[in-house]
Amino acid sequence: MATQLAAPVQGAILDDETISEFRGRLRGPLLTSDDPGYDGARAVRNGLIDRRPALIARCSGTADVVECVNFARERGLLLSVRGGAHNVAGNAVNDGGLVIDLSEMRGVSVDPIARTVRAQGGATWGDVDRESQLFGLAVPGGVVSTTGIGGLTIHGGYGHLRRKHGLSLDSLLSVEIVTADGQVRTASENENADLFWAVRGAGSNFGAITSFEFRAHPVGPVVQLCAPFYALEDGAPVIRAWRDFTAAAPDEVNSLLVLWSVPDDEHFPEELRRRPIVVVAAVYAGPVEEGERLMQPLRELATPLMDLSGPIPYTALQQAFDPFFPKGRLYYWKSIYVDVLSDEAIDTMVDTARARPSFLSGVTFWHLGGAMGRVGSEETAYGRREAPYLFSAEASWEDPATIEQNIAWARESLAAMQPFSNGGSYLNFPGFGEEKEAMLRASYGPNYDRLVALKTTYDPGNLFRMNLNIPPQA
Ligand SMILES: Cc1cc2nc3c(=O)[nH]c(=O)nc-3n(C[C@H](O)[C@H](O)[C@H](O)COP(=O)(O)OP(=O)(O)OC[C@H]3O[C@@H](n4cnc5c(N)ncnc54)[C@H](O)[C@@H]3O)c2cc1C
Repeated sequence: MATQLAAPVQGAILDDETISEFRGRLRGPLLTSDDPGYDGARAVRNGLIDRRPALIARCSGTADVVECVNFARERGLLLSVRGGAHNVAGNAVNDGGLVIDLSEMRGVSVDPIARTVRAQGGATWGDVDRESQLFGLAVPGGVVSTTGIGGLTIHGGYGHLRRKHGLSLDSLLSVEIVTADGQVRTASENENADLFWAVRGAGSNFGAITSFEFRAHPVGPVVQLCAPFYALEDGAPVIRAWRDFTAAAPDEVNSLLVLWSVPDDEHFPEELRRRPIVVVAAVYAGPVEEGERLMQPLRELATPLMDLSGPIPYTALQQAFDPFFPKGRLYYWKSIYVDVLSDEAIDTMVDTARARPSFLSGVTFWHLGGAMGRVGSEETAYGRREAPYLFSAEASWEDPATIEQNIAWARESLAAMQPFSNGGSYLNFPGFGEEKEAMLRASYGPNYDRLVALKTTYDPGNLFRMNLNIPPQA
């Protein structure tokens, strides 16, 4: 019997002997479509993605990852790396190739004296927060605990600490990475510094990262959350007042707007459920009492429908959004940097929220700057450091009959915000990355050409191409 690759690269067929021999070289399980657990292993967070890899290697450690990289390269197999599998583009899996599944590699260790955290490549932010908070420390991560540290860090990393402590990748001290030649390399400021530069913004193009070493920062255990829910009818004046407040806010204030609907969920008052709202979600990365006092004006931008503000344990905060993004829902999230937040831009933003075809969808509007904006734009590969805001149209829905309508809403929303942008997308909210090189050039800016040169050095055969791909030079 032979496993026919659904989308064969070079028409490859893997016979049972080859698969069995490969399986014998791994410590972790190797799944084919015949194995129980295969369907669970190929499913990613986004229910729109339905790919059938020929092989899924649940790696137990770096040695397994090396075996996979060599096997895929030698046989010309399409290769994916699966971290937390959150990316809406679904690049963690592929059709007909091999998946390096890091989901069993989630170990985290903390050095409280040096204030560093080392985490394996498949860890989630929940894993990192849990261990680091034991010592009163945190690494800037995302706002949903089930997101992988892998994809989130290597493309940026926006979370509640971004203005105080920078992007996730700004706290990166080193990585262990298996490059396309099967070599295990350390990349840091002192070792393979060019690779380290590229990893911090475009890591998925350069290898499978088996561990991340981060600088950690004292945070919590309790932080101040500000979370008033305003009616979307008050959206324009609320957002104008928010804009004026945030313009003068210290780095400790990390705030974003969510133009959304009250969840249809028992935790919210029945009469408010599904009502269109603007949530001001701000977290103070500093003393709780100071945060309560300084963020009070954000609770008075209009009369709130409800208000969830108050002190909250940092680990609880990091899980607060989890229930609203279940696995298997249909997602298409796409972003654009906003450079001019004029009154017209605000009116346009509110109009996009009003036009949402699904009450589950939202517009997230991130206030950037602070520490993440002070890093030089060429110090890491990540682009558009100077952008003050990010607009993200987050289409989320359940009815498969409305796919086109929901994707169209996100794309039209971005087009409407285009006049207020100098271009570029945050590459963790890339839609399907359908604009390919045009999106990458706009997002990496002047760093793009250096990335192409480094890709050509480290991955001339483009083995790592299930990502927002930077093709090597021919
Ligand atoms: C519910 C939800 C909430 C989110 N919240 C935030 C947020 O608060 N802040 C934010 O910045 N982003 C957020 N995102 C976006 C998120 O950062 C991206 O989707 C990110 O790419 C997810 O990383 P992952 O490892 O989970 O994904 P995956 O889908 O596993 O990976 C994404 C890409 O990175 C590659 N990759 C992953 N791990 C590795 C590794 N170890 N080595 C090499 N390549 C790797 C994959 O091959 C793939 O190309 C959110 C997404 C979702 C769905």
